[in-house]
Amino acid sequence: MDNLRNIPAVDEILGDERIKDLSSQYNRQFVVTIVRQAVENLRLELKLEAEAVSKKDLIERITQQVLKKISASKGTLYKVINGTGVVLHTNLGRAPLGNRALEYINRIAGDYNNLEMDLTAGTRGSRYDHVENLLIELTGAEAALVVNNNAAAVMLGLNTFAFDKEVIVSRGQLVEIGGSFRIPEVMKLSGAKLVEVGTTNKTYASDYVSAINENTRMLFTAHTSNYKIIGFTAEVSMLEMTALGKEHSLPVMYDLGSGIIYDMQQWGLSGEPLLRESVAAGVDIISFSGDKLLGGPQAGILIGKKKYINEMKKNQLTRALRVDKIAIAALEGTLLEYLSGNPVDNIPIIRMLAASPEELKDKAGELADKIRSNAENWCKLKDIAIKPTEDMVGGGAYPTLRIPGYAVQLEFVSGALEEIARELRLMRPALLARLQDNKMLINVRTLINGDDELIVRNLQELIKKDDISSGSSI
Ligand SMILES: *Cc1c(COP(=O)(O)O)cnc(C)c1O
Repeated sequence: MDNLRNIPAVDEILGDERIKDLSSQYNRQFVVTIVRQAVENLRLELKLEAEAVSKKDLIERITQQVLKKISASKGTLYKVINGTGVVLHTNLGRAPLGNRALEYINRIAGDYNNLEMDLTAGTRGSRYDHVENLLIELTGAEAALVVNNNAAAVMLGLNTFAFDKEVIVSRGQLVEIGGSFRIPEVMKLSGAKLVEVGTTNKTYASDYVSAINENTRMLFTAHTSNYKIIGFTAEVSMLEMTALGKEHSLPVMYDLGSGIIYDMQQWGLSGEPLLRESVAAGVDIISFSGDKLLGGPQAGILIGKKKYINEMKKNQLTRALRVDKIAIAALEGTLLEYLSGNPVDNIPIIRMLAASPEELKDKAGELADKIRSNAENWCKLKDIAIKPTEDMVGGGAYPTLRIPGYAVQLEFVSGALEEIARELRLMRPALLARLQDNKMLINVRTLINGDDELIVRNLQELIKKDDISSGSSI
């Protein structure tokens, strides 16, 4: 019972130097609440303990609990150093934003703005107006609309034009994209009825024609963005599709997945249509993601013929799928970079995709040198070298394409690899590397400025830990 009488007062804990330090960094009420909870927890614990505990120990127990709880309050989103060489890594937030997009977010989101105000007329405006002209300018489309993401864009298109009616899709395009986007499921939720035609590898114009009836409202094409059926080219089918649509007075919707504005053929990225080409082919509605090859924020972008885009704007579903000011600001910054800036230097994913093997080899050499000079005595490191790699675009774009790159390869003493990879993932920032043939590859294509130093720092920390645990005095 003495234990209970010895429980320190909340003020006493708040007077501890360590807690005082914290109180200056955090909201005082937050710290007080956590201290109160810790005192209460201690009271419950002590009821079950028979042995006497000194007041000093009681204070220490509470303080430790408070410190632990507060350090766990830092949130769960962290920077990750992407050493995988997958440029649009779906698990790592897809496209990192460029500086202009970040500036726009800063300037707009932290202040009042004209999101829904027409400043000329002094009346209510539309959030959808802001990036529409930029998208028209950059793609040649008649109109544009931006919603939450591409899944929402597809849903909106189907719901607007084919609710309770039929949409014809080729069996070769019933795609599933990572993160559980499945065309048949989205179609069901939109209220449209899926009519499958053709086979997995071959669908002819005549297959569509024989499925068209008085209930048909749309011809739908999905870009097979994460796999390839060899021998079937999107461009040819696109022209055939638009001709069919015209002939039968049906809109053609093309779910493009990734929207490409900047032609990257010079770096070997060919075979996927540019947005401008799909518009020129006469597609009525095109949808794509903002955070795939466009290199912008998460968004679902719809471009196409004015009469269709306007109809989608009027759908009540648009309100539920609407895009927020942060994404609009980032998208405006990104699109302006394409229009009048320098996308190759300033849009991170384009810069990464444009990096030449020679440039990457130099970069890998520099990183290897930095690691080498810091990890000389690391008992677990057996070898360090630079190696050519085959990098991927990711994000469901160019699924079969491999772009030549370079990585720093670390070879460890046997059995150490998985544990070191785990430790590096648990550091802040985390480092995600590729593990291959029992070696660790840190691919330099996907590193961002300043990552070299962070990698070296993380490795130093790991080496220090290893030295302590192995009893080494280095
Ligand atoms: C990625 C992708 C989607 C989903 O886009 P989100 O922006 O992630 O919603 C839909 N269709 C295709 C073809 C895609 O590649």
